[in-house]
Amino acid sequence: MTGCLRLALGDQLSASLAGLRGLDPACDRVLMAEVMAEATYVPHHPQKIAFLFSAMRHFAADLAARGIAVDYVRLDDPDNTGTLGGELARAVDRWQPERVIVTFPGEWRVWKQMRQWQRELPVPVEVREDDRFFCPIARFRAWAEGRRQLRMEFFYREMRRTHAILMDPDGKPLGGQWNFDAQNRKPLPKGLRIPEPFREPPDTITRDVLALVADRFGGHFGTLESFAYAVTAEGARQALNHFILHALPWFGDYQDAMATGQETLFHSVLSPYINAGLLDPRAVVAAAADAFHRGHAPLNAAEGFIRQILGWREYVRGIYWLKMPAYADTNALGAQRALPDFYWTGRTSMNCMAQVIGQTRRHAYAHHIQRLMVTGNFALLLGVEPAQIEQWYLAVYADAYDWVELPNVHGMVMHADGGLLGSKPYAASGRYIQRMSDYCSHCHFDVTTAEGERACPFNFLYWNFLMENAALLRANPRMGLAYKGLDAMAPARRDAIRQQAERFRSGIAGGY
Ligand SMILES: Cc1cc2nc3c(=O)[nH]c(=O)nc-3n(C[C@H](O)[C@H](O)[C@H](O)COP(=O)(O)OP(=O)(O)OC[C@H]3O[C@@H](n4cnc5c(N)ncnc54)[C@H](O)[C@@H]3O)c2cc1C
Repeated sequence: MTGCLRLALGDQLSASLAGLRGLDPACDRVLMAEVMAEATYVPHHPQKIAFLFSAMRHFAADLAARGIAVDYVRLDDPDNTGTLGGELARAVDRWQPERVIVTFPGEWRVWKQMRQWQRELPVPVEVREDDRFFCPIARFRAWAEGRRQLRMEFFYREMRRTHAILMDPDGKPLGGQWNFDAQNRKPLPKGLRIPEPFREPPDTITRDVLALVADRFGGHFGTLESFAYAVTAEGARQALNHFILHALPWFGDYQDAMATGQETLFHSVLSPYINAGLLDPRAVVAAAADAFHRGHAPLNAAEGFIRQILGWREYVRGIYWLKMPAYADTNALGAQRALPDFYWTGRTSMNCMAQVIGQTRRHAYAHHIQRLMVTGNFALLLGVEPAQIEQWYLAVYADAYDWVELPNVHGMVMHADGGLLGSKPYAASGRYIQRMSDYCSHCHFDVTTAEGERACPFNFLYWNFLMENAALLRANPRMGLAYKGLDAMAPARRDAIRQQAERFRSGIAGGY
C-alpha cells in the first residue's frame, strides 16, 4: 500500500474528522476496531457499548458507501487482538502504509498509547489536532496562563465574544447580562406538559450489536431493553431538532428540577452524540441561538443551554488537558471511604438515590442536577474516595469519557482539586432535593429532620461534612452562610449529629 492508514476511534465518528481530511480513496484506508480493552477498562453500561459499536458500524458503512476502503474489525473477529495498539500493528503489518494518521484522543490513557505507537510502529504516526471544539487546547492554555483563578464564567464570556454568540453589535451580551441563572432554578409546577424524549427504534445493525453486547457484557451494570439512542449523524440531527422544537423553550426555567418518572424533562440528551462525534457542538449552539433569534425560545433558555456547551463543556476539556495527569491524583479533602454497593445495585431506601440510580440503570442517562446534587452530593458528603466514584460515573453514563467525566466528578462534585474548578463544594442537605424534586414525598426517610432513626441521611451527613472539613472550608467566603448555620447549632446537637453520621457510615456497607 502506498497511501496512509487512518485510524478513527469510537468517539471520532465525524465525517469532518481531522484525521480523515485529505483522504485519497485511491490509496488510503480507514481502520476501525471494536476491542475488548476499550469496552472493559471500566465496566461500561451495556447501552454505552451498544451505542458506540452500532454508531461505529454505521459510520464505517457510510464511509464504504462513499467509496472509502475501511478495515473494520469486529469484537468477535477471531483474530481480534483485543487492543487498539494490537489492531493498529496488525493493520500496519497487513497494508504496509507510508504513514499512520490519527486524531488527538479524548483521554490521557489513549494519548499515552498513541505516544507509544509513535515510538514502536515501523512507520511514522502523525497526530492531528482534534478541532471539533470551539477552543483549541493551546488557546485554553494561553487563557489560563498567569490567571490566579480559572473561573468558568470568565472563560465563557471570552468564548461568547470570540465566537460572537448572543452578542449585540457593540460587543455587549444580548439582554444586558451574561447569564440568567437567577431565573433558572424553578421547581416543576404541577400540570406542566413534559415532552416525550426522542427515541430511535433499533435497526438491523443495532439489533445485531444489542445481541452481541447482551452476550458479552450482560453482566455489567445496566439494562439493554429500553435502548433507543440514535446511532447515525442523521439520527442525532433529528434528536437535536426534537429538542429545539419541544424542550428548549423551557430548558432554562426547569434546568435544575427533578421529578419521579420524568427522566429527561427539558434536557436535550445530546451529550452521547456530541461526545462521539455524531453532532458538531457548533451546530448545536447555532441551532439554539437561531431558536432565540426566531423568537421560538426565550433568552434565559437559549443562553442557559448554550453556556453548557460553549462554556462548561469547553472549559472542562481545557482544564483536563491543562492539568493531567497530576489532576486525577489530588484528594484535597482526603476522602477515603469505599463507594457503597447500592451505587451498583440501586437497592437503597433513600428514594432520590434509588430513582437516579434506577434510571441510570435503565437508560445510561441522568441529567446534570441528578448527577451533581443526588449521586454526586451523596458521595461528597459520605467522603468516598474520588477514584472510586469517578470510576462509577465513567462506567454508567452513555456520554462518559475521561476528559469530561473527570473534571466534573473530581473537581465539581468531589472538590478533590481543592477548588480549582469550583469555588466551593456543592454540598447540600436533603432540603435542596426536597425543593427541586418530588423524591422526598415518597421516601422512607424524613427530610425535615437531621436526627433520629428516620432522619434523612443527606441532612446529618451534610452537617457532619461541614464539621469534618472545617479546617479547609470555613475560611471560604462562599461557605459563610453554611458555617453560620452550623455555629448556631447547640453543641449537644452537633455531637448527636456527628455520632449519627458515624454510625451511618460504619453500617453503610450493609445497605441503606
Ligand atoms: C458528576 C457529573 C458527571 C458528569 N459526567 C459527564 C460525562 O461523563 N460526560 C458528559 O458529557 N457530561 C458529563 N457531565 C455533565 C452533564 O451532566 C451532562 O453533560 C449532561 O447531563 C448530559 O445530558 P444532556 O445532554 O441532556 O444535557 P443538557 O442539560 O441538555 O445540556 C446540554 C449539553 O451541554 C453539555 N454540558 C452540560 N453540562 C456540562 C458539564 N458540566 N460538562 C460538560 N458538558 C456539559 C453537554 O454536552 C450536554 O449535552 C457530568 C456532570 C456531573 C455533575
